[in-house]
Amino acid sequence: MPTPALADRQRVAEACHRLSAAGLLIGTAGNVSLRLGDLIAVTATGATLADLTPAQVTVVDLDGAVISGDYAPTSELQLHLGIYRTLPTGAIVHTHAPKSTAIGCVLPELPVLHYQQLALGGETPVVPFHPFGTPELAGAVLDSLSTGKQATLLANHGAVTLGSTLAQAVENALLLEWACALYLDAAVLGTPRPLTPSQQQAVIEIALRTGYGTPKPLTKDHQ
Ligand SMILES: [Zn+2]
Repeated sequence: MPTPALADRQRVAEACHRLSAAGLLIGTAGNVSLRLGDLIAVTATGATLADLTPAQVTVVDLDGAVISGDYAPTSELQLHLGIYRTLPTGAIVHTHAPKSTAIGCVLPELPVLHYQQLALGGETPVVPFHPFGTPELAGAVLDSLSTGKQATLLANHGAVTLGSTLAQAVENALLLEWACALYLDAAVLGTPRPLTPSQQQAVIEIALRTGYGTPKPLTKDHQ
């Protein structure tokens, strides 16, 4: 069983710095975790995320027992652990990002306006409000993500994204915030027009055929 090393805690800290710089993590609000085998490296509660240090990343097991670290883990620890115990994910990001939170204050779900949202599993559901840190919130988030979604919104609270890697969970948080901003901008002009299921399917078929989103070497056609 790999034990999270200083380098792994540093990666969690760097993910927080990136999300803070992008405006998704504000002050002490939000939390990030990374799975390494049966252990989880997770941000400490009360830490300022823009300046998070590796020492402010606590290592726990899947039952929440602290394995190493000097600080109490995030108050949303059970939300993270419930996901890791159930879904094959490598990292989790929870934010109170402004656009994502705004959407979750009004809509029952974020519809698919742009095909990039297909990377998040299509529409992003909004789970009902429960107070932070409660088993009810953790259970509602897990139910929402158990349908294969890579993201969910939390009513009047924020967002949770998953990733097979820490970088992917961060990218998904940025993508969700971008999609929420897109919805808000479009709604200024009129009623946003979602992609239909057949339009979404057409995009999926092209992406599968062309390997969209993956780097490819140049071929003769490009020269
Ligand atoms: Zn929160």
